[in-house]
Amino acid sequence: MNYYSLNRQSPPVDFRTATIAGQAPDGGLYFPESIPQFSTELLKNLASLSQADIAYEVMRPYVGATIPEADLRRICAETVDFAFPLVPITEQIGALELFHGPTLAFKDVGARFMSRCLGYFSRGETKPVTVLVATSGDTGGAVAHGFLGVPGVEVVILYPSGKVSPLQELQLTTLGQNITALEVSGNFDDCQRLVKQAFLDEDLTSRRTLTSANSINVARWLPQQLYYLFAMQQWAPGAPPVVSVPSGNFGNLCAGLLAHASGLPVGHFIAACNANDAGAEYLRTAIFTPKTAVATISNAMDVGHPSNFVRILELFKQEHAAISQLLNGYTVSDADTSATIRRVEAERGYLLDPHGAVAFFALEKYLAEYPAAAGFLLATAHPVKFPEVVEPLIGRKIELPSTLHYLLEKPKQSVPLAPSYDALRAWLLPGNA
Ligand SMILES: *Cc1c(COP(=O)(O)O)cnc(C)c1O
Repeated sequence: MNYYSLNRQSPPVDFRTATIAGQAPDGGLYFPESIPQFSTELLKNLASLSQADIAYEVMRPYVGATIPEADLRRICAETVDFAFPLVPITEQIGALELFHGPTLAFKDVGARFMSRCLGYFSRGETKPVTVLVATSGDTGGAVAHGFLGVPGVEVVILYPSGKVSPLQELQLTTLGQNITALEVSGNFDDCQRLVKQAFLDEDLTSRRTLTSANSINVARWLPQQLYYLFAMQQWAPGAPPVVSVPSGNFGNLCAGLLAHASGLPVGHFIAACNANDAGAEYLRTAIFTPKTAVATISNAMDVGHPSNFVRILELFKQEHAAISQLLNGYTVSDADTSATIRRVEAERGYLLDPHGAVAFFALEKYLAEYPAAAGFLLATAHPVKFPEVVEPLIGRKIELPSTLHYLLEKPKQSVPLAPSYDALRAWLLPGNA
C-alpha cells in the first residue's frame, strides 16, 4: 500500500516513510491509494476472532511489506491488549468503552500502534529517534505510555505548567526511562510553537532525528478502525447500528468511515461536536468554515480547524450529498452536556465523561427522529479524567481505578523550561547551544 499526499505536491510513499515523516513534505496529510475490502471470512467470523487477529487482518494491507508478519502480529497483539466493552445504557443506546487502556483514553490504541511501528523501523539505526510532542493533556500521556521502554526511541514532551489536570500531569511526569517531560512556563500554544520551530531548525534536525507523534500520522489514525470492528463483535444481530462519535480533529470518525468503506455494516454515523462545530456545520450546510477554537467542558474536542476533515472529504470524493447520507452532525452545548451527565447517572446509573455525554446527547436527538433505530456512542475517556466537571454534577467523588493507583506513589519528574526556543534548543543539544 502506498500513501499519497492530499496536497498532491509530494511523491507517494510506503507505510514506513509515512509513519516516520508524519506529514508529507508538501504539508499534506497522507491518504491510502486504495481502500482494502474486509474479507467475507473476517466479517462472518468477527464474533469468534480474537482482538489481536482482527487487528492483524485489518492492519496488514495498510502496512504492506514494511513490517514482516511475525512482528506485525506482535505489534497488533500488544496494541489491543485490553477490553473494549459495549455496555448497554438504555434500550436503544450503548457505550463502547474505549478507556480501559493504560492512560484511560482512547488515544492509547493509536499511540501504542504507532510507537511499536516506529520502534520496529528504528531498529539497527545508530542514531536514536527523538519523538517531540506538545500536549495540552491527553495526547502526551498516551504517547508517553505508548513509547515507554521502546528501544531506540526517546520521547520529549512539552506541557504547559499548571495547565494540565493533576492526573494528566502524573501520567506525563512519573514514567522515567526514555520519557522526559519538559514543564514549560507558558501555555499550550507556546509548547506547540517551540515544537514547530524545532522541526524547522535544519541544524538541529541534522544532528537529532526528530519525529512527531501527531494525531494525523497514519500509524495513529488507521488503527482507530479497530474500535468499530470490536463493537460489531458485540453488537447483537439486528439492524446495523447508528454510531455516535465525539469529534474534535475527526480522526476517530474518519477511521470509522474508512472501516465502513471497507465493508463494515454500520448503519449511520453521527459527528457529535461541542461548540467547536465546523465539521457539524459542514454536514448541515455543505460549507466548511474553520473557526477559532473556544474553550468547552469537553476540552479534548476544542478544535476550530479539524485536521482530518480533508480525509473525510477525500473518502467521499468531495461529494457533500454522499457524505450527508451516511453522516449527521450535531452541535451540543456545555449546558446540554452537563445535564446529560447528571440525568444519565441519575436515571440509568451510568457515568459518562463530558466527551461521551456530547455523543450520547447527539445520539438521543437522532433516535428521536428515527425511533426504530438503535446504536452506541464511543466513550473516549474515563470520567475520572475530568473530575472538576463531573464531580460537582453528581455530588460525589469518582474513584480512581485501581490500575492507576501506582501513579500516586511515584515522584513527579519534570524539567522546567522557559517558553523560548533557545531554551528548548539548548536542552536538545547540550553543549552546542
Ligand atoms: C482526542 C479526543 C477526542 C476527539 O477525537 P478526534 O479523533 O480528534 O475527533 C474525543 N474525546 C477524547 C476524550 C479525546 O481525547
